[in-house]
Amino acid sequence: MRYYDNVVDLIGNTPLVRLRNVTAGPAMVLAKVEYLNPGGSVKDRIALRMVEAAEKAGLLRPGGTIVEPTSGNTGVGLALVAQLRGYRCVFVCPDKVSEDKRNVLKAYGAEVVVCPTAVAPEDSRSYYNVSDRLANEIPGAWKPDQYSNPNNPRSHYETTGPEIWEQTEGRITHFVAGVGTGGTISGIGRYLKEVSGGKVRIIGADPEGSVYSGGSGRPYLVEGVGEDFWPVTYDRGICDEIIEVSDKDSFLFTRRLAREEGLLVGGSCGMAAVAAARVAEAAGPDAVVVVLLPDGGRGYLSKIFDDGWMARYGFLSAEGAEATVAELL
Ligand code: PMP
Repeated sequence: MRYYDNVVDLIGNTPLVRLRNVTAGPAMVLAKVEYLNPGGSVKDRIALRMVEAAEKAGLLRPGGTIVEPTSGNTGVGLALVAQLRGYRCVFVCPDKVSEDKRNVLKAYGAEVVVCPTAVAPEDSRSYYNVSDRLANEIPGAWKPDQYSNPNNPRSHYETTGPEIWEQTEGRITHFVAGVGTGGTISGIGRYLKEVSGGKVRIIGADPEGSVYSGGSGRPYLVEGVGEDFWPVTYDRGICDEIIEVSDKDSFLFTRRLAREEGLLVGGSCGMAAVAAARVAEAAGPDAVVVVLLPDGGRGYLSKIFDDGWMARYGFLSAEGAEATVAELL
């Protein structure tokens, strides 16, 4: 019989898919499709590695509770692993996270606490502070803290990086990813630089207004990426270049990925793909650009994929939305 012992064994080993329609120029652009992880995002990888390390260190014991500030994806990964091992989960989300995403966490049996987005990180209502308080008050609580846990970048150093190197047979020349906690780009970037002797160029993609591209943390709408502080998990020496992408470009490109490539993915994927397309346009014919797409698009149907929502924020003209409907009739 051919089967997996449990759903956690499905984490990792995601495929690379060539982008053919949304990029210009002779360079090859390959997308690492992370929504094919069982929890639907790249975050399954760090969840598993962080829980295993906490169990080994005695920080998480039978009957314990996992408390984490998460925009949704890390929560799904943690909930999925926690289910199988009998832990309770309490997640703290900023209010900009879509209701769909919060409901997914609840569906996995997690409890969800919602906090305001538009307050400073040091504010007692910020999702960082609320999660700290809960972690201190709940007996047997363990806070993975994806923003400072070395097992976050380590999971990518040990799995995602080697997968990309093997899948491209060492021919990768550029790696592009969005930066949130920085775990993805720091872990993969370090592995690829080591294994290639520094030849692979590492490019971060960042929302306009976030600290990584020189901003102050001004609010932007793209979810899961950008920060208003410098997390420990981000290696400030890893990126050779940071490309800043507007919400509008990120969301329009996200829609193109669905329509032109058949990849229904999230807004941070569109953001990273915009950066990858810019890199590919400037690169030569031998370039192999790998872009990591962190999650799927189903959690954003009432936002990025909704014409009315896009028009309300000025990302799509009302005429544009109507023209699309007219085309279909
Ligand atoms: N995109 C999405 C949708 C995410 O949830 C995250 C994680 N915050 C990222 C991108 C960024 O990944 P990382 O935290 O590893 O930098």
